[in-house]
Amino acid sequence: MTPARPVPRVVAAALRPPDPHCYGHCSEPVRPHPVTMRLPGSLAVYACPGGVVSVSVYAEWAARDPSTLVLRELRRRASPARTVLRRDLRLATRHGPELGPDPERFLAERGGEIPVRVVYWRRYPVRRGAVVHRLFACFRHGRGTVRFYVAPDSDPPARCPACRRSSRSRVTSTGRSARARS
Ligand SMILES: [Zn+2]
Ligand SMILES: [Zn+2]
Repeated sequence: MTPARPVPRVVAAALRPPDPHCYGHCSEPVRPHPVTMRLPGSLAVYACPGGVVSVSVYAEWAARDPSTLVLRELRRRASPARTVLRRDLRLATRHGPELGPDPERFLAERGGEIPVRVVYWRRYPVRRGAVVHRLFACFRHGRGTVRFYVAPDSDPPARCPACRRSSRSRVTSTGRSARARS
């Protein structure tokens, strides 16, 4: 069996959402944040400037279904891990003709029967009483990293559990709060 491969650049361009905006939260444009994973394909987390995630998209060029692997990788980056539910992942299989002329030609020339597999992870907002809880992503933990967490809508937005932990440990080591220093 042909091993799973990264999605070629010409195909990746065809997979990008046309004009992504943050619906129901701020209407700002969302932009893709690339995340490094131990998988051959690529993951992009589409989030607005406030950190609310619209969708996370994993894509690879392979005959297999990568959903289980993607689920595991997403869970490793979520606090708590059960933030990522199997039923919220959706697999799409894309073949050359539906991707446009350039990707179609590219894929046909290189063993056309192998499709592009795309796994979408969407976690819809949950309303509890008057408060809406949304999926957030924190990208402050190094290049190519992400931390997913669910938090209520608030201004400023709630920080991720890892950021909260590190500011707490700074408080104990210096005896001053992060707020007092800033
Ligand atoms: Zn937003
Ligand atoms: Zn963080």
